[in-house]
Amino acid sequence: MPLFDFSNDPRAKVDRIRKRTLKMIMEASKSSYPSEFAAFLRAEEGVIRELVLLPGTVSGGSHAIFRMSMLPVDFTIVGTVHSHPSPVSLPSDADLELFRKYGWVHMITRAPYEMDCWNAYSGRGEMIDLKVVD
Ligand SMILES: [Zn+2]
Repeated sequence: MPLFDFSNDPRAKVDRIRKRTLKMIMEASKSSYPSEFAAFLRAEEGVIRELVLLPGTVSGGSHAIFRMSMLPVDFTIVGTVHSHPSPVSLPSDADLELFRKYGWVHMITRAPYEMDCWNAYSGRGEMIDLKVVD
């Protein structure tokens, strides 16, 4: 038994994203290009419905940097999203390290940032399905 078992945490059960939130992510990814866009994801009842932009989030350079120390104690935050300024939305080694450290659901968007230009991953870096809902 692990010391903390998060598998029954409601945050592990996020399986949907609102279409308008996805649209917002794509627009932010597009307007940040060629820099990276990064934000935290907020969910309620299994649905990602909001982006949380933090002042400590740095976009630009070759990789998005999340400063975990800037993260408020907020149990509605379920993971992260960042954009890749390339047509590849596979996690890098640094991404996988981030995913392991924090969160349950992580999204990576890719150029050209159309509505289907993204993938979602679990904390273990496995690809997961997120259903787009209204
Ligand atoms: Zn990345």
